[in-house]
Amino acid sequence: MDAKSWYAGGLRFKCTSCGACCKNHGDYTFVYLTERELEAIPKFLGMSRREFLAKYATKEPGHWPTLRMDQPACPFLKEDNLCAIYPVRPKQCATWPFWEENLVEATWKGSVTECCPGIGKGELVPAEEVDRIARETEEWFEG
Ligand code: SF4
Ligand code: SF4
Repeated sequence: MDAKSWYAGGLRFKCTSCGACCKNHGDYTFVYLTERELEAIPKFLGMSRREFLAKYATKEPGHWPTLRMDQPACPFLKEDNLCAIYPVRPKQCATWPFWEENLVEATWKGSVTECCPGIGKGELVPAEEVDRIARETEEWFEG
């Protein structure tokens, strides 16, 4: 049996805009910023890359910069739970929840469903599209 056959019929997901995934979850809250993000987001905000990094990012030596999540939520989460940089939001925000690591049946039905009320809602996303998004995310992550 194909390892991915559990979602061969597609997966349902529709964001309910609850904002939960944009809030600080402690040690596991990382939104990575690649070159793509470091070009697009400062431009969208009318800032220099340097200003953006100083104000909105953290960087550990040897790691990619991440969005500063030392506040209760991402600095770009608005009061209405929408994203202030939506058109240029980081790839990992745009492709959630269809990440390779989430496409394991136990993970999808367990921790992913527990943390995201959009799972199981909306139209079925075909398996091919799910896989395409997961691949795109991996490629982005690999640089
Ligand atoms: S947790 Fe899920 S439903 Fe809530 S904002 Fe994030 S993606 Fe949308
Ligand atoms: S950039 Fe936007 S979508 Fe991503 S965590 Fe921040 S508020 Fe949420």
